[in-house]
Amino acid sequence: MSLYAMRIEELSGIGKKRAELFNKLGVFSVGELLNFYPRTYEDWSEITDISDVEDGDTVCIRASVHSAFQSGFTKNGKYIAKTIVTDETGACELIYFNNKYIDRMLVNGNTYRFFGKASNVFGNVSMIAPTFSPDSATAEVRPIYNLTAGLNNNTVVNAVKQALKLLPETINDPLPDTLREKFGLCGLKFAIENIHFPKDMESLNTARKRLIVEELLVLNLGLRSLKSHKRAENMNPIADDYSDEFEGLLPFSFTSAQKRAVKDCIGDIKNPEITLNRLVQGDVGSGKTAVAGSVCYTMIKNGMQVAFMVPTEILAEQHYNSFKEIFKDTDVKIALLTGSLKQSEKNRVREQLKNGDIDLIIGTHALITDKTEFLNLGLVVTDEQHRFGVAQRAKLLSKGNSPHLLVMSATPIPRTLGLIIFGDLDISIIDELPPGRQEIDTLLIGSDKRARALGFIKKEITRGRQAYIVCPLVEEGESDLASAEEYAAELMLNYFSDIPVGILHGKMKASEKEAVMRDFSENKIKLLVATTVIEVGIDVPNATIMMIENAERFGLSQLHQLRGRVGRGSEKSWCILVSDSTTENSTERLKTMCSTRDGFKIADADLKLRGPGDFFGSRQHGLPELSISSLADTKNLSLSQRIADYVIKDSNNLTDDRYRALKAEITRLFRTTGDSTLN
Ligand code: ADP
Ligand code: MG
Repeated sequence: MSLYAMRIEELSGIGKKRAELFNKLGVFSVGELLNFYPRTYEDWSEITDISDVEDGDTVCIRASVHSAFQSGFTKNGKYIAKTIVTDETGACELIYFNNKYIDRMLVNGNTYRFFGKASNVFGNVSMIAPTFSPDSATAEVRPIYNLTAGLNNNTVVNAVKQALKLLPETINDPLPDTLREKFGLCGLKFAIENIHFPKDMESLNTARKRLIVEELLVLNLGLRSLKSHKRAENMNPIADDYSDEFEGLLPFSFTSAQKRAVKDCIGDIKNPEITLNRLVQGDVGSGKTAVAGSVCYTMIKNGMQVAFMVPTEILAEQHYNSFKEIFKDTDVKIALLTGSLKQSEKNRVREQLKNGDIDLIIGTHALITDKTEFLNLGLVVTDEQHRFGVAQRAKLLSKGNSPHLLVMSATPIPRTLGLIIFGDLDISIIDELPPGRQEIDTLLIGSDKRARALGFIKKEITRGRQAYIVCPLVEEGESDLASAEEYAAELMLNYFSDIPVGILHGKMKASEKEAVMRDFSENKIKLLVATTVIEVGIDVPNATIMMIENAERFGLSQLHQLRGRVGRGSEKSWCILVSDSTTENSTERLKTMCSTRDGFKIADADLKLRGPGDFFGSRQHGLPELSISSLADTKNLSLSQRIADYVIKDSNNLTDDRYRALKAEITRLFRTTGDSTLN
């Protein structure tokens, strides 16, 4: 659409000043203005009888001006004008401030529609400054745009009206007729006209659906083409597969789901035509670490270095320790690089990395600083990926010559959303837990039952088990440290005076945390009171109880992750959610937790109840801005997914000329994102 080349100033009534206001809203060209969809609509087609008006309702009434305006001034000097309008059912007083022309605009005896918030105090109905239009000329549904100071709705309406007139009679629709017919979508011109000035509510819905589906389709196809770009060539192929040898180093054998995931990865690395670019998604405890370990081992045995990046120091240390154990009888040289190492220590590790004296480096964000260099980085693994942004991942990848990428995530993501979030990755799913895992009973209790729960925890600890208690999540501005320590002190004083208790919180030094974690995993500490730092990765099979305070403050996926810390051994486990919240939404969420352990079901519920934000983390910034769609709209997400599959076939990978306009839309959407990895 060449309207994208036409600046908004070219519309009449829009000078430099107003154009700047539009710019603030992200609208620079006429094309963008047409894509600047209303925030909401006023439905002027539903007429409310005056006698039915309830206090506080936003209504449209149809009424005739019944009396001349009475005017005067308020105490603080405002001009005020009042009149009475009536319909067959009653009378309503209208009050306008600072409008000296109102009595000429509303002619006595004529009928108008009035729209706005009404009040009804003991049968006296009134409206303050409702908008109105002559009954005969009333549009049924009116657009309300997002505004900024100095720009009013009418200005936007007028600009959009002009822009619509500039649309050519037949516009080049990115969705060809055949496609639209097949999937029941209206044409672009109808859609644009009706999203701004709908003939009626039905036309609005038709238009909206078409635009949403198109936007999601463009996003979907764009991400797919990125994926195929990235898979161009394998700069780090391997000759031999060492995954069987690796399995021999483990104290257990792989589940068949783990085997499949390993095979997927090794298959990619061996293939000379592609680079491994894969997400391994598996519920907490499904054994992703060993899968990654197997791929790492194969790379290392083929002479390449591997970087393993995790979000927290504790997790880095835990992975480091377990890999050291697994690799103890091999010649794999492994090291740890975290921010809290001594400077001299960091320098030494970096020197060794650069010289190729380290095969496997496990670390936190310290890995991505400019100072870290590799001799021949062949594979990057990121664990619990949703905490890393695209940019951070890209930075680590830039330290090698197109190294392979393996991303692991325990956050089950609704499938439709996964296709968007991880659109550039292939996916392997580990859908099976290692054998012998026990049930976890999840209970929801009010704080009045806390004492009983603590008694139960104490009993289990006396039986030899260990427990976690997750402190109340602090609100912004509260001190994490103080609350964790105070809370633990209270517990130790009143309930667990004869039991070794450890505290873990975000402000501790890595060495302190490590000491506490080690004591916990060696069963010297029986009860671990913690803030959310235990959320990811920590593995202590003897821990069988988790109690979570203020459970309603957590997202479901987060609770699911926390709960995954228990039920890891052969003993039955419990998860106790403490919450006094009575809102419907949080009760429903917490009940979902009690009724299922299926991560995908939980993710679906989370998406419905909290929206998609929780699933993205910083990665969200890597996606283009959507103007009308919501990623929580699973129905249209899956429809657009189906259409994308069809388009790829029907257009021979977008090479067919009928799809040229669609291809142009994809380019346009992805050109405007700030993320270099998407360009
Ligand atoms: P996650 O997928 O949550 O990262 P981990 O990799 O931490 O899970 O594995 C959880 C626990 O299960 C670890 O103690 C690990 O040693 C063990 N484990 C992994 N795979 C198997 C298996 N196939 N059989 C038995 N235990 C396994
Ligand atoms: Mg893990």
